Amino acid sequence: MDEGLRNELSKQGIFTTSMEALYNWGRKNSVWPMQFGLACCAIEMIATTMARYDLARFGAEVFRPSPRQADLMIVAGTVTKKMAPQVVRLYNQMPEPKYVIAMGACAISGGPFKQGYNVLKGIDRFIPVDVHIPGCPPRPEALIEAFMALQRKIDAQKLTGPNRPRHLDPEAPSEFP
Ligand code: SF4
Repeated sequence: MDEGLRNELSKQGIFTTSMEALYNWGRKNSVWPMQFGLACCAIEMIATTMARYDLARFGAEVFRPSPRQADLMIVAGTVTKKMAPQVVRLYNQMPEPKYVIAMGACAISGGPFKQGYNVLKGIDRFIPVDVHIPGCPPRPEALIEAFMALQRKIDAQKLTGPNRPRHLDPEAPSEFP
């Protein structure tokens, strides 16, 4: 729509937008994280949802106990090799479009345990990660910053072309091993 016409309409209290922008606006403001944690970083994730930091301000207060109802996985903590298949299974059970935040050094690279025989050296070896948060542990402000980065990413996604969500890309895998 012509910019002049759009301005004229908005002066009269009529606001216009595209379906794509409306769709992304709804998605980015109603992200439902999955309710699970793996180690100490999860304590900071829980703190982020409490009154002091109040993640609910971003529309993400509804932590879901079922992957079928969640569209954000926050990998908060150490991923052991024994636990990794369960994390991937949970990811596969989430409906599209879905996103992943790797929270803390352990989720990114194994953190202080990366020399160990039993710890994964980064969850992004198995599932696609949208935002990484460094730190041991990252503070709630860092998780909020990562969440806002994810919202910007969702807002910029198009329904077609290279910047589309993964489930609209026919070449992207639908399941991870
Ligand atoms: Fe714990 Fe640090 Fe690993 Fe987070 S990054 S799970 S705080 S050891």
